[in-house]
Amino acid sequence: MVGAGLAGCLLAWRLQQAGQPFLLIGSRRMPAAVDVAAGVINPVTGRWMTKTWNCEQLLPTAEACYRQLEAQLGLHIYHPIPELRFCQNPDDLKRLGRRLRNPRYQDVLSRYYPAGDAAPAFNDPHGCFGIEQAAYVELPKLVHALRSAFEQAGLFCDQSFQHAELLPQGTHWRYQEICARKVIFCEGAAARNNPFFPELALQPAKGETLLCHSPTLQLPRKLYHHKKWLLPYPDGSFRLGATYDESDLSETPTAARRAELLTAAQAALKDPHPIEVTAHLAGIRPSSRDSRPLMGAHPSRPGLYLLNGLGSKGASTAPAMTEQLCAHLLQGRPIQPEVDLGRFQNQPLD
Ligand SMILES: Cc1cc2nc3c(=O)[nH]c(=O)nc-3n(C[C@H](O)[C@H](O)[C@H](O)COP(=O)(O)OP(=O)(O)OC[C@H]3O[C@@H](n4cnc5c(N)ncnc54)[C@H](O)[C@@H]3O)c2cc1C
Repeated sequence: MVGAGLAGCLLAWRLQQAGQPFLLIGSRRMPAAVDVAAGVINPVTGRWMTKTWNCEQLLPTAEACYRQLEAQLGLHIYHPIPELRFCQNPDDLKRLGRRLRNPRYQDVLSRYYPAGDAAPAFNDPHGCFGIEQAAYVELPKLVHALRSAFEQAGLFCDQSFQHAELLPQGTHWRYQEICARKVIFCEGAAARNNPFFPELALQPAKGETLLCHSPTLQLPRKLYHHKKWLLPYPDGSFRLGATYDESDLSETPTAARRAELLTAAQAALKDPHPIEVTAHLAGIRPSSRDSRPLMGAHPSRPGLYLLNGLGSKGASTAPAMTEQLCAHLLQGRPIQPEVDLGRFQNQPLD
């Protein structure tokens, strides 16, 4: 595997569970989206308040996977959390009414709270509603623990992978001293520089997030989703997130996005609060053109595979996608057409 971010680490873990030999090559010094991710799992998203793609299958698989990893690694990383989403206008209210009447949404929506009822610290002229089955996963903690465990077992190589040194050798691929039957690229947004997959339908998007503290703001433990979201942590700090930008793909945090997040937080809160920023993080989400994962075999080079396109939803999608890719690699099970990387072939770019 190339790339020890969320996708690479979880795939390596699944292969280890299946008793398969592997080597994970990745660099701790290279940027990774997982290092800055809040790890939020949100079953209802977007302007249209729709259930996230495939959430009935993805969410239980994710919880089972993180719970198993918690037990194995002695970590506490998976945190279910009630979510409150604020209606922004009368159209949101109409849409919510339709969703609340729809039996398909009964497992993910709780109820509507009129203005002032559920979250007194927030401006909520149109009220808000509860979302069930939300959670956040401490992804950086998980990935650091997995890299260390693999390293101790001699299964992780902390280095930057040089594509020019990967050469076919009969039915295998050679990389320096390593000979492998299969090479699986899990490089996140850096895959746009992978010479073996030049046509990959990636559409990366930069995100920035702030870790904050306020001496005057103490919020009950809930995920608050106004125009941006606010996630309180048990130590009294909280996170603001996240921005979205497809035009700037630099890894550096910007003053403009910091101001955007702080302005959104102050606008969401009823009273002004002093907010101290303790960390400002930026990363590139490996999104795809249709916002679905991208995975499967190279169209013409046997032995090369890819897992990417987890976008802004890696926490919920990576467990199921790695399970599916593992079954493909080890038992030849077909890749679901919706996530097969070949689905964009012969499709013109917009
Ligand atoms: C600000 C922000 C907030 C986010 N919040 C959430 C959230 O709340 N919930 C959620 O589900 N998702 C969130 N995400 C998205 C999440 O981070 C991604 O879905 C996930 O990290 C994708 O995993 P990945 O392994 O494909 O990519 P990455 O996590 O980026 O990992 C790729 C790895 O490959 C390595 N690599 C690449 N090329 C090479 C090479 N040549 N040699 C060695 N190593 C290489 C990289 O260094 C990196 O370590 C957020 C992202 C950002 C930027």
